[in-house]
Amino acid sequence: MNETVLITGGAGFIGSHLAERLVERGRQIICLDNFDDYYPAEVKRSNLQRALSSQRVSLEEADVRDREGLRSVLGTERVRVLVHLAARPGVRPSLQDPELYLDVNVRGTLSVLAMAREFGVPRVVFASSSSVYGSIEGMAREEGTPCHPLSPYGASKVAAEALCSAYAHTGGPSVVALRFFTVYGPRQRPDMAINRFTRLIASGQEVGVHGAGHSLRDYTFISDIVDGIEAALEASLPGYHVFNLGRGQPVVLLDVIRLIEKGLEAKARIRFLPQPPGEPHLTYADIGKAGALLGYRPSVSIEEGIARYVRWFRERERFSPLSPAREGTVTVARPLASELDEQGTVPHSRQDRGL
Ligand code: NAD
Repeated sequence: MNETVLITGGAGFIGSHLAERLVERGRQIICLDNFDDYYPAEVKRSNLQRALSSQRVSLEEADVRDREGLRSVLGTERVRVLVHLAARPGVRPSLQDPELYLDVNVRGTLSVLAMAREFGVPRVVFASSSSVYGSIEGMAREEGTPCHPLSPYGASKVAAEALCSAYAHTGGPSVVALRFFTVYGPRQRPDMAINRFTRLIASGQEVGVHGAGHSLRDYTFISDIVDGIEAALEASLPGYHVFNLGRGQPVVLLDVIRLIEKGLEAKARIRFLPQPPGEPHLTYADIGKAGALLGYRPSVSIEEGIARYVRWFRERERFSPLSPAREGTVTVARPLASELDEQGTVPHSRQDRGL
């Protein structure tokens, strides 16, 4: 298939893995990214290095809120599928700057949908989040469960999903919204728990763990998420559809730390911190619908996934000037680690100095 796929947020953690996968499939890809300041642009440029070594991948530096930027890409390329991953991520920072989250995640999504419609792009795949659900007690979430987000980030994803539905029902494009559950793996965002904990443990620094470390997350390995996105690209699903992409097996945070310790052969120095607002105790995906309609079958266990992550971390530490261990050195100056899924703990004013 020679149709071009446009990936917004293509230089990010998930976007860069998707670009690599689609190159392997022989697709033509445009990665659009504005290299925002949530974490350093050099890390994002290095994420894309491998994908950009293919002639079939190009990079456009633009902001999804800038319709002219989108027009100039969509006006010159025959884009048949658009994967909209660009967003301001992070639960806790969204409590400090909700306007920014609404602007990027809601107005940005509106701009993408409007431009997709203007240029006749038939299908959009949208990156939503488990954060739309909010608090749950002991049961997997089905897609039909009412959403009660706990943070402006989660609320921004609910609002963006609503826009996707509205566009899909009023002339298109068709949209598949995928609710990702705590994605991890090589190149995971530096603010996320597994990345931060690995750096802190490897460098002998204290690990701040919120609550008693008993919170549960449905950690999902990046290759499983990319499988799900690919399936959504291929599926014939007119209109609007929403799917959970998780593993369906929540894991206790302290168990994740034990697996990282095992991989690194090092002991964590844990300091327990109060539970922050905005974070649910449990995330738990019901993946029955994704299994039935997308053939989604996550296959990487948490043991295997963490082992792979730690191997990547060690390799990168040895060879790269952007080694996660070096980033860890900078992180000491910042507040102690967040411990859960896709949140960052650091106020934006400090992020520019960090990492
Ligand atoms: P990431 O920050 O690594 O990637 C997002 C990319 O979007 C970044 O490269 C960033 O520069 C770019 N971006 C931000 N604002 C932009 C704008 N206005 N215009 C153009 N580009 C912009 O994050 P990620 O972890 O790869 O997440 C990708 C998507 O998946 C996001 O929408 C996120 O909300 C969603 N998600 C991620 C997770 C997870 O566990 N990583 C979980 C649920 C949902």
